[in-house]
Amino acid sequence: MKITEENIANADDLSAVDELVSKCERCSLYKTKTKDVTGIGSEKAQVMFIGEAPGKDEDLQGEPFVGRAGQLLTELIQGLGWERKDVYIANVLKHRPPNNRDPLPEEAEMCWPYLKQQIKIIDPKLIVFLGRHAMNRFFPALKISECHGNAFRKDFNGRKQVFLALYHPAVAIYNGNMKKTLEEDFDKIPKILKKINEEGLNNNNDNNKETEQTKLF
Ligand code: SF4
Repeated sequence: MKITEENIANADDLSAVDELVSKCERCSLYKTKTKDVTGIGSEKAQVMFIGEAPGKDEDLQGEPFVGRAGQLLTELIQGLGWERKDVYIANVLKHRPPNNRDPLPEEAEMCWPYLKQQIKIIDPKLIVFLGRHAMNRFFPALKISECHGNAFRKDFNGRKQVFLALYHPAVAIYNGNMKKTLEEDFDKIPKILKKINEEGLNNNNDNNKETEQTKLF
């Protein structure tokens, strides 16, 4: 059975999304998968982290961000006093591209409805991109060197949504300067959340007219 966008849009909780992904043949990546890597964390998470695609460790374990980069992400999350179960972590693609090659445009396009539905179900206050590839799936024109660490909001999924772009943890593992930048940007997350909650920045009817790529911090 070909899973349609309508099927995905009708998934009303995360387990329904998981179920569809487990049967998905919308692109050819299902043929080489070991496990599905749909996402992990709380359906009520206020913060959703989004990377590009599962790697080898993720494919073997069926969970996003569990390799070395994932360990750094976990440490950063714990540094804020949270656990992985308090947030939600997902990728644009739910199955690993062989040999970690870049996802093909048609693979990303076929997988996109799953991520959109996950965002709709979780309804996060803040979406955090892990790396430029994930960010550019949403906003192709943005440059991470210019916008990392600066929260901005844009119309998405029919409402205003606040986003934050971070460098990918994998880049920070071997580069001390990059790690420091990532840590500094990461530490802004609680302040951004506070501002979102206090000013209702995700509400469609708030009085703040600046929505397009507004630098919030
Ligand atoms: S990568 Fe996405 S679209 Fe492709 S088979 Fe897996 S779940 Fe389906």
